Amino acid sequence: MHHELTKALYDVYPLEDKNDFFPAFLYMKYIENFIYHAFQASGLAVKEPRQKVPEEIDAMLKYYVQQIADSAPITDTNIYHGKVVKLQDAIKLVTQKKDMHLIPSEKVMPYKLAREVILKSNSPVAVGTCVCRSLSENPCLPPPYEACMFVGDPFASFLAEENPLFRRISQEEAVKILEDVHKKGFVHTAYFKKEMGNRFMAICNCCSCCCVGIRMWNMLEGMVPIMASSGYVAEVSDDCNACASCLNGTCKFNAIRMAEDGQKVVINEAKCMGCGVCVDVCPVEAIRLRREPSKGDPLDIDELQSQAQKV
Ligand code: SF4
Ligand code: SF4
Repeated sequence: MHHELTKALYDVYPLEDKNDFFPAFLYMKYIENFIYHAFQASGLAVKEPRQKVPEEIDAMLKYYVQQIADSAPITDTNIYHGKVVKLQDAIKLVTQKKDMHLIPSEKVMPYKLAREVILKSNSPVAVGTCVCRSLSENPCLPPPYEACMFVGDPFASFLAEENPLFRRISQEEAVKILEDVHKKGFVHTAYFKKEMGNRFMAICNCCSCCCVGIRMWNMLEGMVPIMASSGYVAEVSDDCNACASCLNGTCKFNAIRMAEDGQKVVINEAKCMGCGVCVDVCPVEAIRLRREPSKGDPLDIDELQSQAQKV
């Protein structure tokens, strides 16, 4: 146990939020067991976690997951939520070169709680095994598959030192992983959590067959605000030749279908989360992302910083 990392984590919380320290500590130490309870709470089939934890700790993790589930239906109380981000915006989050403390507006993160972005120059990154895929009965990629990133300290260093599933990586490695998972068609999602100091702390790279967040989003048909759109929607130009490369599971939110006349594909804008995965799949560049104000604003830290400077 690295006591100085535990102390650094404890110091994140102001006096009135010290109660958040313990759930954050348990979450980071036992993330697979935490996600196991998230699967169970969602009614999804799940494998036993590899790490056995004492009964009382397991009970606390279960209680903690229940608190998240209870808060999830309303944006005012939601304490754990994800924002879909384009590849370029995800890269900016792991390559920050300046100290930054932003509180994005509710147009970016439509939640009252947990929406600060605090990064130091050259913020450390820890990558770890995707526990959603490890716990899934038929994962799309065999575990251990490294796809989950914690960004910024004390979280990244704590994970790298205290959780055997994680290791520290350079910013260059983080970018390579993001580019690689993007090519595999995964959705980059920036996660925010009240118990992590009310802020952004991680980027997950999600599929719709394993990842509990997207699976719940699709099951509940977006009715429970656990995820926010990137602020973009996909649109298809007349260059589409109906080759169908962007169908068959490309869209993790089931937002693309062939038009009835079979001449081109069409996007269901209500379902589209603006992840950009389909854009890079199309061989003739017939899909592009368009800013869509009704979907909110992007989590683009350059844009947010320049807006903050103008105020
Ligand atoms: S239509 Fe394209 S941009 Fe929209 S959610 Fe699906 S893959 Fe992502
Ligand atoms: S991949 Fe491109 S060309 Fe092919 S169907 Fe999709 S949008 Fe059309």
